[in-house]
Amino acid sequence: MQSQSTPLGEFALIQRFFKTQSDAMLAINPGSISLGIGDDCALLKPEPDHEIAITSDMLVENRHFFAGTNPECLGWKALAVNLSDLAAMGAKPLGFTLAIALPKADSAWLEAFSKGLFAIANAYFCPLIGGDTTAGPLNICITAFGAIPKEKSIQRSGALAGDDIWVSGTVGDARLTLAALRHEIKLPQNDLEIIQARMHQPSPRVALGIALRKVASSALDISDGLLGDLKHILKQSNKDAEVWLDSIPKSPTLLKQSKDVQNQFAAAGGDDYELCFTAPMSKRDAINQISQDLKLPLTRIGTINPMQHSAPTIILKSNDGVISQEQANTLMQSFDHFI
Ligand code: ADP
Ligand code: MG
Repeated sequence: MQSQSTPLGEFALIQRFFKTQSDAMLAINPGSISLGIGDDCALLKPEPDHEIAITSDMLVENRHFFAGTNPECLGWKALAVNLSDLAAMGAKPLGFTLAIALPKADSAWLEAFSKGLFAIANAYFCPLIGGDTTAGPLNICITAFGAIPKEKSIQRSGALAGDDIWVSGTVGDARLTLAALRHEIKLPQNDLEIIQARMHQPSPRVALGIALRKVASSALDISDGLLGDLKHILKQSNKDAEVWLDSIPKSPTLLKQSKDVQNQFAAAGGDDYELCFTAPMSKRDAINQISQDLKLPLTRIGTINPMQHSAPTIILKSNDGVISQEQANTLMQSFDHFI
């Protein structure tokens, strides 16, 4: 065991917190990785007739997470957000690289970070295959690689008029957790304990993404807010949508909040990492079967319409009738780092 007082060099750090666990995973199941950590490059050997999906996500301290955030959660989340992108395209995870800047080589921090990182890497069979390590302000950048049979990827541009719009699981709990942590909303400790994993340790919908290859016309993962993210599908598919606000699936905990909070958090709260997808009406039975097989609720929340104007529009409907344009605008505003 390295004592806290012994300085930890770059290569000892890589070996101890990253390479050992990665080698252990690859020894059990190398999958499509023919060379992991240790050389100038890793080598990926995808199956024939597959395309490689590639995605990167960066987590920056004080921007994506508070300083002092539990490093185990951070390790989990850093990979989770990338696996969620792979899921949205229907890709099966192959492996990932980790570029990390650390203010100091803190063994306790690295131990916990590595524990969270490899917990999710093992859960989804996605080994760490390389990266870069440097000193600097805490910044974690993961690039994940996935495989999809040729021409089976689910893209944002595929939605057709008449398609149903679906969402997996429930949305809004990550935003509710954030509101509770920021003291914007007072949440009983019990409730917070039930939902906080939605923010700290999201479950990427990888199995769902793979199952959707056969049925979905378009998909994306919800990271910045459901309606704002849906607009990306509409824009790339040149379509409008009608969405039924009351149909958006919410957890029992969120349903205890005022109607305004429920709607705002479910429609515009970020960090959900559920999938929003479109599919023809003819696929409803198949989708309900997928939901049963995966024990994951899949809910129809609206329909795709032909585009009426030059920009995509979402018409929001609620059981009470009309939604004012002003309310609709706040519900459709998704997170933007530069506004
Ligand atoms: P190079 O100088 O060729 O870029 P490095 O000396 O930075 O390589 O890294 C040595 C090996 O360790 C490489 O295989 C690299 O991919 C791997 N590596 C470095 N940092 C990390 C990390 N944070 N996680 C996983 N692998 C890493
Ligand atoms: Mg090199």
